[in-house]
Amino acid sequence: MSEQSPRQEFSGLRMGKPFGIPVYVSWTWFVVAVFITLMFGPRFQQMLPELDSVASYVVAFAFAVLLYVSVLLHELAHSVLAKWYGLPVRRITLYLLGGVSEIEKEPPTPGKEFMVAAAGPALSLGLAGLGLLGDVYVINSGGIPEVLIWQLWVANFIVGVFNLLPGLPLDGGRMLRAGVWKVAGNSGTGTIVAAWGGRVLAVLLVAVPLATSLSGGQELDFTDLVWPLVLAWFIWAGASQSLRVAKIRARIPQLNARALARRAVPVTAETPLSEALRQAVEKRAGAIVVVDHDGRPLAIVNEAAVQATPEHRRPWVNVASLAKSLEPTMVLDADLTGEPLIEAMREAPGSEYLLVERGGGVYGVLATADVNRVFTGV
Ligand SMILES: [Zn+2]
Repeated sequence: MSEQSPRQEFSGLRMGKPFGIPVYVSWTWFVVAVFITLMFGPRFQQMLPELDSVASYVVAFAFAVLLYVSVLLHELAHSVLAKWYGLPVRRITLYLLGGVSEIEKEPPTPGKEFMVAAAGPALSLGLAGLGLLGDVYVINSGGIPEVLIWQLWVANFIVGVFNLLPGLPLDGGRMLRAGVWKVAGNSGTGTIVAAWGGRVLAVLLVAVPLATSLSGGQELDFTDLVWPLVLAWFIWAGASQSLRVAKIRARIPQLNARALARRAVPVTAETPLSEALRQAVEKRAGAIVVVDHDGRPLAIVNEAAVQATPEHRRPWVNVASLAKSLEPTMVLDADLTGEPLIEAMREAPGSEYLLVERGGGVYGVLATADVNRVFTGV
């Protein structure tokens, strides 16, 4: 699997930095390792009767580790190709349901999106093929290596095929998204189609085993549904998240700095806050800019700091103490719109920006809160 949206920071064990990409193992992986060891221990003992029970659990643990090594290789395939295309990769994390590559930027073309998504399943299926060939032609004398490789190729085959299912957040979903993006010429349409594919998959993952057992006339065993339910929940949640992001992204082209600007009232640094606010009301301005005696802007008064100042203190506080000095990155072209506007704001995260005309004149103040409101619709 691979994912683009930034995840919350969480603690994990850092395992190394292959190809310059930091690899972390989440604590949830250890839960899975124990689970796999307990589940496969008896199975290995059955297949390898010469092992005692301790040895078969050791083999089962080795299987758990090797399985995750192959998941890591799957993720590295995504990440290394993404890096090759010049996309920044923050890290790879191995966790409960496998692995996730955090690629910080969307590929610029549907072709590259398709290739980055396809690289993972291609690697898993390649490993499965190698394992199968190895088992048939090279290590066919029985014993631990053959049984281990057999289990591993089957597991990699399942990982490869499962990830090819055409719904987000699976790799197959990203491949479908790339295909629709190519045909429709719009990545947002691709996301919506592939996310709905994910939701349909989630429903089928539970509905198919349920229908099969019901039509077979068997009594329903709910423990058989635990794993499909976990996977279905994961896929449904991922698909829904993609839909939310697509909805937000669809609004970006409508952004217009000039249209969102607040009129700014210019005051000098020593002006009391109460006086500046009076002028702002009088001029119907939504922002206060601190200027020098020649009228050049120096700082923007922070709205949150104004709100936090009690009414009775306002005559005794001067505006400069509530203002943030203008950095060059806080001064934006009033003509900015859409993606370039978001990019400029991302470069210098803050609550207010000064909008200037091409000639250098002040147009107004852009408040981040006003931009966010376009997305939340509040
Ligand atoms: Zn993948």
